[in-house]
Amino acid sequence: MAHGSIDIDQSRCEGYGFCAESAPTLLELDDDGILHALKDVETDAEIHRAEAAVRVCPVAALKFARVDA
Ligand code: SF4
Repeated sequence: MAHGSIDIDQSRCEGYGFCAESAPTLLELDDDGILHALKDVETDAEIHRAEAAVRVCPVAALKFARVDA
């Protein structure tokens, strides 16, 4: 089963939050506008959400690191 994690390039992220809106169980902006990954990506639904979050970022700051097991 595939799983993985979302890698955040903090030097690119500008804190728009579109990704966190797409994947609120996986990503969260804190009060200072810093984006955090909340958990690893483990289910098919989470994979879809992670891929959507990567697509929606306007500055390409996210990468879904997928591991096929
Ligand atoms: S959409 Fe991109 S720029 Fe905006 S918070 Fe997410 S990673 Fe950062």
